Amino acid sequence: MIKKKTKNKAKKVSEFIKECHHVARRKGWWEDPRNDGELIALMHSELSEALEAMRNHGKKEDIAEELADCCIRIFDYCGARKIDLEKALLKKIAYNKTRPYRHGKKF
Ligand SMILES: [Mg+2]
Repeated sequence: MIKKKTKNKAKKVSEFIKECHHVARRKGWWEDPRNDGELIALMHSELSEALEAMRNHGKKEDIAEELADCCIRIFDYCGARKIDLEKALLKKIAYNKTRPYRHGKKF
C-alpha cells in the first residue's frame, strides 16, 4: 500500500505578508499614498474590537476574527513598506528565550 503524503504545510509569515498586501492592493487600499500613523491606528482599532468582543460575550471565534484582522493589517503594512517581519520575529523570539524570568520585571 502506498502511503499518501499529507498536505499540511504551514504557510510562512512572508507568504501571509505577500497575500495580504496583494489582496489589499487589489481591493484599492493602496491607490493613494497612505499615512503610517493612520495605518498603525487601524491596527490598534482591531485590537480594540477584540477587547469589545471579549467584553460583550467572549466568543473565541469572534475574538480570533478580530485578532486575525489585526494580523492582516500588520502583514499588509509590512508588504507595503518592505518590512521583513519574519526575520524580526525569529530574531525577537530567539532573544526573548535568553531573557530572565518575566524579563526581570515585577509585572
Ligand atoms: Mg475587525
